[in-house]
Amino acid sequence: MKRLVVVPGSFDPPTNGHVDIISRASKLFDSVIVLVSKNTLKKSLFSTEERVEMLQEIFHNYKNITVDVCDSLVAVYAKEKGAVALVRGLRNTGDYSYESEIWHVNRTINSALETVFLPASNKFSAIRSSSIRELALYNQDVSLFVPPVVALKIKQLKNA
Ligand code: ADP
Repeated sequence: MKRLVVVPGSFDPPTNGHVDIISRASKLFDSVIVLVSKNTLKKSLFSTEERVEMLQEIFHNYKNITVDVCDSLVAVYAKEKGAVALVRGLRNTGDYSYESEIWHVNRTINSALETVFLPASNKFSAIRSSSIRELALYNQDVSLFVPPVVALKIKQLKNA
């Protein structure tokens, strides 16, 4: 049986931490869907379409990674696709508390759905999208924390 997993998130913007988790998931499972949640926040940096495009560009060399958009519940989407699990990255105990609550909710919707937690790699464990948005807002260099395509897009935002 082919094992498909879904890596859901807002990815606003995608960071090196996300890339690390997604590429590690692609080595563990047969295929990976990176699922971009439609942003309901007014203060999002990038539109859903832009986030999808950046992720497609980042993973274009990975044959088993695709990118999709979700406008329903992630657990429902995963059931429809026949995914065996969601994959989430854990940076710290705060992430764990939050994620374990979500896991319980997801199980009520899709009782077969597992969640696999991958610990953040040391060098990425302090990176979060909200910090990148903040740095971008104040025109700071973010190239240490995000893939080149994202850094370029952020530069273009500044010049727009
Ligand atoms: P959310 O919007 O739910 O906070 P994100 O879109 O920021 O989620 O991230 C999606 C997933 O990536 C989550 O599982 C999150 O824990 C994980 N993640 C985010 N940043 C990192 C990082 N630096 N290292 C590892 N995992 C991360």
